[in-house]
Amino acid sequence: MNNTKGIIVVVSGPSGSGKGTIVSELIKNEQYALSISATTRKPRLGEEEGIHYFFKSKEEFMDMIEKRELVEWAEFCDNYYGTPKFYVESKMNEGKDVILEIEVQGALQVKKLYPEAVLIFIVPPSLKELKNRLINRGTESSEIIEKRLRRALEELEFINDYDYLVINDCIEQAVMDINTIIKAEHLKVNKRMSLIEKFKEE
Ligand code: 5GP
Repeated sequence: MNNTKGIIVVVSGPSGSGKGTIVSELIKNEQYALSISATTRKPRLGEEEGIHYFFKSKEEFMDMIEKRELVEWAEFCDNYYGTPKFYVESKMNEGKDVILEIEVQGALQVKKLYPEAVLIFIVPPSLKELKNRLINRGTESSEIIEKRLRRALEELEFINDYDYLVINDCIEQAVMDINTIIKAEHLKVNKRMSLIEKFKEE
């Protein structure tokens, strides 16, 4: 499609917002590459090493921080999560748009390091719906669900630091919205200066 550098697309939203499903739909498009995070969280049933996460001990994770191997990292509900730098940089250089599915603190660190990154926040239609989704998912205990709901409200406080809000009422629509956002980012003048130079030359 193009031979320019890809962009970073950060997708955040509360647990149960459906961002995982949206992201798995998005990455069917070969223009996108999904960054795989490192985490100290234990794998959930069906999660695989190197596909869903790189599962690390706390010591291994701290070692990655020390060696500056992470673009960003954060503590979320008693576990550490971080984005390995190597993959993000190499995929961007290949021209792919790299999707980071990360929480708010990490998103803000990414924006500082890469000011051109696009930050998208996904929410379900209501808090009630969010609670239902978390309960129906059945992957967490009620104590962890409560913790994640509290965290969801805290995360909403940072909505103004994001560039776009997508309401996930319908997955197809949310995926379409995100594709539109990414397309529009690529059409921004500052991403197309080389085309203008070419236009003048020919
Ligand atoms: P989960 O345990 O449900 O897989 O993820 C918990 C939260 O951590 C989610 O909001 C998810 O987006 C976020 N997360 C996953 N990977 C990373 C990462 O590399 N960095 C940061 N900051 N957050 C992450």
